[in-house]
Amino acid sequence: MALEVCKWRLEGCDWSGSHSALLEHEDECPYQIVRCPNAGCESTMHKRELEAHRARCELAAVPAELPFTRKIMIPSREHPEMNFIGMLLGPRGVVLKMIENDSGTKVAIRGKPATRDVNDSDELHVLIRGPSEEAVEKAAGMVLSIITPPS
Ligand SMILES: [Zn+2]
Ligand SMILES: [Zn+2]
Repeated sequence: MALEVCKWRLEGCDWSGSHSALLEHEDECPYQIVRCPNAGCESTMHKRELEAHRARCELAAVPAELPFTRKIMIPSREHPEMNFIGMLLGPRGVVLKMIENDSGTKVAIRGKPATRDVNDSDELHVLIRGPSEEAVEKAAGMVLSIITPPS
């Protein structure tokens, strides 16, 4: 009987087996790419990493007083020469504080600078939490004006 290989083989799965077992395996395959189920979180990862991600996902528990969130990816992969974190923080963090105070939101820089690992599910980003859509949009506009490189 011919063995079939898992469709997630290129992701690292070395499973092989009969066709009927394959269908069952692919549903459960730890190497399948899944998306974090938390609203607003755009992280994707291997299924086997989902539990660890959910344990530290910043969108798992949203404070009741700051129900609006926006996640802005920092283009550090496209622009490795730019010090986006330094630009967002400013000296002693004054820029970030100013954004928070001006918009009434909480702004956090999360994740790791981009690496060559294409499956890095936690790339550098800014997480904004605010009491209203307007507050979040205001903060997002300020963040984007800082991290959008001059063209
Ligand atoms: Zn598999
Ligand atoms: Zn998540």
